Amino acid sequence: MWDGKLKKWERTWKVDVKTAKDIMYWSSNIDGLLENEIKEMTGINEVPGFWQTWILTVGEFVTNQTIDPKLSSSEPINSNYMHSSGDADTPLRAPRLAVCSRPGCKNFIIFENGLRCISCDLEYQVTKSTRLVWFGLFIHDIEGLDTIVKHLNQFGAIPGHPIIRKNGRRYLLIPVNAFYPIAWPAKQPMVHYAKGIFTLPRIEWDKVNANYHMHKFGMMCLYTGISSGFNSYQESTMKDVLVKRALGHSNKLLKYCNGDMGAFLRVSPI
Ligand SMILES: [Zn+2]
Repeated sequence: MWDGKLKKWERTWKVDVKTAKDIMYWSSNIDGLLENEIKEMTGINEVPGFWQTWILTVGEFVTNQTIDPKLSSSEPINSNYMHSSGDADTPLRAPRLAVCSRPGCKNFIIFENGLRCISCDLEYQVTKSTRLVWFGLFIHDIEGLDTIVKHLNQFGAIPGHPIIRKNGRRYLLIPVNAFYPIAWPAKQPMVHYAKGIFTLPRIEWDKVNANYHMHKFGMMCLYTGISSGFNSYQESTMKDVLVKRALGHSNKLLKYCNGDMGAFLRVSPI
């Protein structure tokens, strides 16, 4: 397990909140909203099951409904975005984390003196589809999940599936991208398994599946009634969504992958 000390190649930075707010669009009008989100997420390492560091970055989330990135947050809000009952946040293409466009670099994008590459400082060009994202890792104890362990042993090191060891036990790290919707916090966030999880047994990449509560592109189904009009989501913080919903989803998903076909049918305390 990571000991919490910075390695030579690791670095810290102060999040450029002003630049990040520009990407939250009208959410940026809500006083202290993003500051509170960042403060909460900074403390997520105190919650069991969460990797110490979660990074505020951006991703590209292409939908039918996008808004002009130059739209000033002081301009009137189009309420159709906020309350449209349909698919404002249904992606047309697989959402992806942004990476540096410099050939050979392709590193993380962070908010430091603007929005730029963590490695070479190249500025990231915001598009109509750019959204604010938290990237981080869930930590799951996989001792006893024999089918999964066997699968991972058989296929060796799978990208996105690092295994760490502590006190003789093995833990699987699951990469997660948590996208803010354009109408945050009125609408729920889109929490995705980063590509890689779908190499697990029984999970089909890119298909909706009610048995393991998955939307397209590996998006976790965390709330009921997304398309029916009655939505069980209530205004929340990203930390709450990750702690109370998403971590439990991945826990159940691993049990499902391991052969427990009823993993999602039982009500769990999470
Ligand atoms: Zn770069």
